[in-house]
Amino acid sequence: MVADRIFKDGAALSFRWQWARDPTGKTCGELQQLQDRLQSFLFAGGASDSWTWILQGNGIFTTQALTTLVNERNRIPVHVEIDKRGVDLDSVRCPMCNNDSETVEHATLTCPFAKDLWSRIFHWWNGGTPQYSNLEDMFQGKTCPSNTNASKLWQATEWVTGYMLWRIRNLKVFEGKMWNAPMVLSEIQAKSFLWITSRSENLHLDWNTWLLHPSTFDDHG
Ligand SMILES: [Zn+2]
Repeated sequence: MVADRIFKDGAALSFRWQWARDPTGKTCGELQQLQDRLQSFLFAGGASDSWTWILQGNGIFTTQALTTLVNERNRIPVHVEIDKRGVDLDSVRCPMCNNDSETVEHATLTCPFAKDLWSRIFHWWNGGTPQYSNLEDMFQGKTCPSNTNASKLWQATEWVTGYMLWRIRNLKVFEGKMWNAPMVLSEIQAKSFLWITSRSENLHLDWNTWLLHPSTFDDHG
């Protein structure tokens, strides 16, 4: 057991490893890093070492259980969904606005941050105001601009926007970084352009058209 190798040495922990062969070179540095990290861990005595799978009540990982989780309708692990699965969270509030429960719909559509971003996207596309009432509306492209040549580009924009909303949310949660909406819009414009032009080499879409009037794009014109 790991706990058998660890001894209290004043306030710090010291380690007595038993090696078949003593570590040398780069491995010594890695071992030191590991030991430094272990200083802040609390080791419970008595029980055997084990891994715990936190998304299952019994703590046991099975690929079957993982597949079921992934196939569930709300696959995005927003706070409300994680809470339902029994993971103990301080709060189910949205990390972006701290003002409402974080559901999938909230995170991608109704959060003030998401709403502001969608308004900017629609404004960029010269398409009025967002009318999404749920996620299906978005993924089915129900709010396509009238020009059918541009509708595929619009769908790509919607998907990249959904992806970026999720990414920005995770940067806030895991790294404490907050992006403002104009920065996110620029990133979406660049990412979606790159995505579209690298997937369709025969598409004559140039950067200026994309930035200034994407909804008028017509490949045959
Ligand atoms: Zn929110």
